Amino acid sequence: MEPLVDSWGRAIESLRVSVTDKCNFRCTYCMPAEGLEWLPKREVLSFEEIERLVRVLARMGVREVRLTGGEPLVRRDLPELVRMLAAVPGVEDLSLTTNGVLLDRLAGPLVAAGLKRINVSLDSLSHVRFTELTRRDALDQVLRGLEEAEHYPELRPIKVNCVALKGFTEEEVPALAELARRKPYVVRFIEFMPLDADEVWREDRVLTGAEIRALIEERWPLVELPAAQSSTARRFRFADGAGEIGFVNPVSEPFCSACDRIRLTADGQLRTCLFSRREWDLKGPLRAGASDEELERHIRFAVRHKELKHRISDPGFVRASRSMSQIGG
Ligand code: SAM
Ligand code: SF4
Repeated sequence: MEPLVDSWGRAIESLRVSVTDKCNFRCTYCMPAEGLEWLPKREVLSFEEIERLVRVLARMGVREVRLTGGEPLVRRDLPELVRMLAAVPGVEDLSLTTNGVLLDRLAGPLVAAGLKRINVSLDSLSHVRFTELTRRDALDQVLRGLEEAEHYPELRPIKVNCVALKGFTEEEVPALAELARRKPYVVRFIEFMPLDADEVWREDRVLTGAEIRALIEERWPLVELPAAQSSTARRFRFADGAGEIGFVNPVSEPFCSACDRIRLTADGQLRTCLFSRREWDLKGPLRAGASDEELERHIRFAVRHKELKHRISDPGFVRASRSMSQIGG
């Protein structure tokens, strides 16, 4: 089978699947306090529909599938979808990004179903500030979810993702760095991107990876580790050997030239970039009875139009057509 390659020569090997646009948090950098208008149920792909599209994409070279949302763990029976996707030939890596609030109950069933890796979002280790940011008083529950994940050695690495906001995250950095040192978690700081539904993003609210690294190195020197070419993160270990830290710097150090990723929204739209203004409908053809070959043609056509790069820092930047939780971050 001809590999899935875009017009700039990038092979597509990684897929993010949003399983729901709903969420039980309201993170200020993502969703409005009152939530968003949720997709009607009939618009959301069934597990069978997701599996069919993943099967077609895996035949075309997609090796890595990450489930996300909204909050993926609010989708009922998610372990069943994991079981279905783990059995798709060609899918070598199956992972999940979650806010962790339901993880203490679901880590076991997810691992049993074939989940390989997990990313848990955690922006603060202070109860008050966690609640301020997520608009939910759920820090202890998330920490319980992380501890539960630790019980399953199959589920490694456990990554903890923190969205770095200027004027907020500086204060969190020492505690999060300590967490990376004392727990088997790779803590990663992600630069704030203009994907928040409230549109409060401004470039001067981005706390860059370099700024955080400098804060950490005031106390603990870091040593850079090699990273895979398609990796979005720069990886560092603490020089004294205790733990690992990562920086995902899409704003200050864009990694678009190595991007191997596409996204499927909960309502079956293919997106070739987080910042796409355009989506490619796969649900329509799928529900109209398209053959695998027809679906493949739709996918190849979309991928040929994959954007060269995002233009966050360009004058006249235009925001994406949907916000982060609706796309599937
Ligand atoms: N609800 C799950 C969670 O929070 O992990 C999965 C979906 S969430 C949209 C996926 C990731 O996107 C999370 O790590 C979240 O912190 C990140 N995110 C959300 N809004 C963002 C923004 N405006 N800029 C950068 N990252 C963002
Ligand atoms: Fe929900 Fe994740 Fe968005 Fe927070 S970042 S509101 S947990 S989707």
